[in-house]
Amino acid sequence: MKKIVLFSLALLLFNCNSKAQKKESEKKIFTVVKTEKEWKSQLSDLEYSVLRKAGTEPRYSSPFNDNKLNGTYVCKACETPLFKSENKYDSGSGWPSFDRVINGNVEFSTDYDLGYKRTEEHCAICGGHLGHVFNDGPRETTGKRHCVNGVALKFVPEKE
Ligand SMILES: [Zn+2]
Repeated sequence: MKKIVLFSLALLLFNCNSKAQKKESEKKIFTVVKTEKEWKSQLSDLEYSVLRKAGTEPRYSSPFNDNKLNGTYVCKACETPLFKSENKYDSGSGWPSFDRVINGNVEFSTDYDLGYKRTEEHCAICGGHLGHVFNDGPRETTGKRHCVNGVALKFVPEKE
């Protein structure tokens, strides 16, 4: 009887252990990894709070809201191309908005920061937080609104 209990206990411990290990290996490791100190020295306070702490820039604060130039919006932290100007539209939300991302360079997760479910999006290369995705985008295209913090982006104009 004692043996069986010990055996079950061992099995239980083993199970817990293997679960913990699995969780660890599922953690995403980004291509660009820096310490908090390195990010702080590279980014402004607002950029750091948005990109590294999932903060939000003030509404209508981004000069990109009115940017009509052709080009590519890249990650402010690691310069990965994230959005194209041709997919930018005026959502009236007060944040730069796009109806799609550059596939493969943006990843998604779920957050409940405001008490309800939202789709968060971040740079696939450095993990920098960009904004959120909503389903009230242009109906004639994707129907998605990628609501992005301008400070998380850098604009690279198209070469003439
Ligand atoms: Zn990045």
